[in-house]
Amino acid sequence: MMDNNSGKGLSFVRRIYPPRIIGLGIGMLGVMAGISTLDKPQWVWWLLLANGLLWPHLAYQLARRAPVPYHAEYRNLLADSLMGGFWAANLHFNPLPSVTILSMMAMNNFAAGGQRLFLKGLLAQCLGAGLSISLFGAGLELQATSLQVYACLPMLTLYPMAVGWVCYRLAMKLSEHKRRLSALSRTDSLTGLLNHGAWKDLLQLKFQICQQQRCGAVIAIIDIDHFKSINDTYGHVVGDCVLSQLSSELKRNLREHDLAGRYGGDEFCLILPDTSLEHARLSMERLREHVGSYRNPQLPALRISLSIGLASYHENLISPEAWLNEADKALYTAKNSGRDQVNFAQLDLAPLKLAYPE
Ligand code: GH3
Ligand code: MG
Repeated sequence: MMDNNSGKGLSFVRRIYPPRIIGLGIGMLGVMAGISTLDKPQWVWWLLLANGLLWPHLAYQLARRAPVPYHAEYRNLLADSLMGGFWAANLHFNPLPSVTILSMMAMNNFAAGGQRLFLKGLLAQCLGAGLSISLFGAGLELQATSLQVYACLPMLTLYPMAVGWVCYRLAMKLSEHKRRLSALSRTDSLTGLLNHGAWKDLLQLKFQICQQQRCGAVIAIIDIDHFKSINDTYGHVVGDCVLSQLSSELKRNLREHDLAGRYGGDEFCLILPDTSLEHARLSMERLREHVGSYRNPQLPALRISLSIGLASYHENLISPEAWLNEADKALYTAKNSGRDQVNFAQLDLAPLKLAYPE
């Protein structure tokens, strides 16, 4: 119902609602104990009850329905501070309840709106106190009875716990958002594979590991043949389906530690750790044949073929880019030799066969 207000501070309003119910509900007890020894007109008691019990719900409804809930909640927080000042002066600044109310509100304002809201809240508290003094005159009561001390204890203990709980939940939510954003920034949205940047980062990492330890890894660049004509013949929606289909095929056929990414357009890239060039070639041949046999009953003429370039790690490689370049060259040769085939950088077969005897 109020979804058109989301993004305008609705969650801020929701977050403040429970602590306000608790804070004002139990804060009221301290004020009650404070003014019980002073001779106050009956309407002050009614106002206190309304402020403690009704205002949190009214404030929530007002903010929820406002065009910009955040602004309305900001005003509500200032109204809280105004009433806090009003009650502190009504208590004749009885130190324990007054300091409890005013400091809890200052904490609230700092948490909700930083230094700016804190200062504005301070001003609102002064205005509230001024209002009370103009109505009832100024008074000073520096002694607290034991009833007043006990009546403040719930506020002093429960309210910080409520605020702490809200902050903890907020921190958890933020870290979850951060985790999701970071995953999104590494994922290709169409295929769900690693995106170009994320895959290149992992290639860099794998290259360093291969340099430090003696390990065999193969990279593969897979490119769909004549993909442009698939787009031109069947439309981009079908083109997108072919890309997702191929990515599903990759996910299904790869081992747990293989890393698949979308290099861009119709190009996919793989890191196949701890494998020989011959193993990688066989696995890519299987993929090529499998994708080549794909038929769609609705589009009987649609054929998909792949050209794949492979390059294995060897000690003469000076950088991950050089490694990628070898795979790229192998792909280029596959394309130039008629497409629909797997090709590999020849030089590296011999040393890797030694490292991984079949
Ligand atoms: P080749 O056999 O030489 O690889 O020919 P090709 O047509 O596959 O190669 P080219 O690089 O000329 O065409 C790639 C096409 O991929 C061009 C572009 O319009 C299309 N493409 C790139 N990204 C997307 C995408 O996300 N979705 C769709 N449907 N098409 C895309
Ligand atoms: Mg292509």
